[in-house]
Amino acid sequence: MNESNSRDSAQVEKIKAAKNERRCVSCRKIAPKHEFWRIVKCHPSKKIAIDLSNILMQGRSAYLCPTDSCLQSAKKKNRLSKSLKATVTDEIYQQLQLLITSRSELTD
Ligand SMILES: [Zn+2]
Repeated sequence: MNESNSRDSAQVEKIKAAKNERRCVSCRKIAPKHEFWRIVKCHPSKKIAIDLSNILMQGRSAYLCPTDSCLQSAKKKNRLSKSLKATVTDEIYQQLQLLITSRSELTD
């Protein structure tokens, strides 16, 4: 790989996307996909699931930062539903909210 600093940032983003980097549906931040929650519309059941174990469930997926602000914004703007082209129920958002809550309780 011969990486040049003269590349414009849009081009760099495209290259990053190809290297297992993903974009948050809320804040549009790009980061390695393991830093995000992955929400999947499973195929062929069309069931919406949170892929926490990164076992790469089959289907269309959306990525979201594991933060309260991105979760709230995604919920308010219905971003997950739009990205997955499916109805993401409150239950999914509640599960994600619980993940934040349980994690902050674990933090020393
Ligand atoms: Zn985000």
